[in-house]
Amino acid sequence: MLNTKKYEAQLKELRQDFARRVTAISKDLHHEETAIEKDFAEQATQLENDEVLNSLNDEGKGTVMQIDKALLRINNGTFGICTGCGVKINEHRLDVVPYAEFCIECAEGEVS
Ligand SMILES: [Zn+2]
Repeated sequence: MLNTKKYEAQLKELRQDFARRVTAISKDLHHEETAIEKDFAEQATQLENDEVLNSLNDEGKGTVMQIDKALLRINNGTFGICTGCGVKINEHRLDVVPYAEFCIECAEGEVS
């Protein structure tokens, strides 16, 4: 039997963490107040920064969504079960990635 209370606490903590990060990045992305003072090189750097920030932002939002789904699975009693093949996800894996949706086999299958 999984100790879902433990994972629930972890997930909520992680969620706050990622949500805070996404908020901070969004603030960085909305830098209207600095838009005027740029020459071309600075603008290019800014664009590169924005790209990095955007991908970090997407990643953060994606993780928050995964965490929300994991919290839902705790509520409906399917937490820790691979949504791909239905086997129990290894507890060590859940300790590292408590919002893991797939077992290692399915996660690796997804990548390749
Ligand atoms: Zn699986």
